[in-house]
Amino acid sequence: MSTTVGTGASLLSDERVSALRAALRGELIANDHAAYDHARRVWNGNIDRRPALIARCTGVADVQAAVNFARTHGLVLSVRDGGHSAPGYGTNDGGLVIDLSGMKGIRVDPSSRTVRAEGGVIWRELDHETQAFGLATTGGTVSNTGVVGLTLGGGLGWLMGKCGLAVDNVISADVVTADGQFHQTSAQHNPDLFWALRGGGGNFGVVTSIEYRLHEVSQVLGGMILFPFDQAREVLKFYRSFCATLPDEAELYAALLTAPQGMPVAALLVGYNGPIADGERVFAPARRSREPDAVCGASENARRTKRDARPATLLAVGIHRAHLRRIDRWCRHRGRFVQFAAQRHHLFPHARSGDACARHRYRIRREACAMGC
Ligand SMILES: Cc1cc2nc3c(=O)[nH]c(=O)nc-3n(C[C@H](O)[C@H](O)[C@H](O)COP(=O)(O)OP(=O)(O)OC[C@H]3O[C@@H](n4cnc5c(N)ncnc54)[C@H](O)[C@@H]3O)c2cc1C
Repeated sequence: MSTTVGTGASLLSDERVSALRAALRGELIANDHAAYDHARRVWNGNIDRRPALIARCTGVADVQAAVNFARTHGLVLSVRDGGHSAPGYGTNDGGLVIDLSGMKGIRVDPSSRTVRAEGGVIWRELDHETQAFGLATTGGTVSNTGVVGLTLGGGLGWLMGKCGLAVDNVISADVVTADGQFHQTSAQHNPDLFWALRGGGGNFGVVTSIEYRLHEVSQVLGGMILFPFDQAREVLKFYRSFCATLPDEAELYAALLTAPQGMPVAALLVGYNGPIADGERVFAPARRSREPDAVCGASENARRTKRDARPATLLAVGIHRAHLRRIDRWCRHRGRFVQFAAQRHHLFPHARSGDACARHRYRIRREACAMGC
């Protein structure tokens, strides 16, 4: 009996599949496994791909075995961490998926203010551990994206104004490259590979663990200001000019959302990493800008990341005049409501992030194109 793999006529014998199964400490899931349909699922429900094999790796040795197997047998290989890639880069048809979601090790060193996380950790889990010490690093705006997946593309998040992008805080990373070799990378060891990882996405190897610099973060101000949808154009115009006035402590995102009761709304999502009173003052003009429908959230501590604000599926474009027109057209002419979110960073990328930021913007454009935007 054989398992069909790839898009061509290549067949992979059961013996070979069994040999990989025996080489792994984690589970190997093929399409006859009871868990297959669950295991192949990714965050974007529009992506419905059927990999031949899913290797649930438990550590570096499993990753090396899986990489070597894919290379030897000419299989398409995808790496999956949090599964949030909108175009579905974390899966494929007919190939091998390295599923890192079981690799959850996290170690905080409060004295050096650093944390090391394995390749399958998501932001909620990392925040949970670092917040026990009043520490944090820039993560994503929602809590269930993969730590490594987000970081390799740059990593925008609530703390970035003061702490830089996620990638700016990376100190070192362990990587298995396509030849199956293990490398420790940092500014001192394998500096070229370290440079490439920071913004280069998953193109340079499988990151099995990553180390970050941490920052003191205690209380943050966060929440959402909702406006009636017919004010969306004015809200977005306000957003564009207001962003330019904000200090580094503040983050402000604009989104067009469907409220839980089904009503379309325009939203400003605020975050302030500093004294609460200062945050209230900084964001006062946002509350006064139009007549809000509702203000959700208030002062919460940094554990707010546990509860997703669940903003829009992001169409990551800066709001230039042409984009405003385009958004307007979408919203008026599409049969269903289009969700949209923009981050301040898309309008004013910080020069300080240099190459990483440029690579991140490139990836955002690539993902937006893949989504047909
Ligand atoms: C709802 C939502 C909110 C988002 N919010 C933000 C945000 O606030 N800020 C931001 O910057 N981005 C954001 N993104 C984009 C997100 O960071 C990227 O899509 C990222 O690639 C997702 O990583 P993942 O591990 O969850 O996804 P996966 O689908 O698991 O991985 C995506 C790709 O990343 C690479 N990769 C992942 N893990 C590894 C690894 N260990 N080693 C090597 N390569 C790896 C691989 O190429 C993989 O195919 C958001 C996406 C969504 C869907």
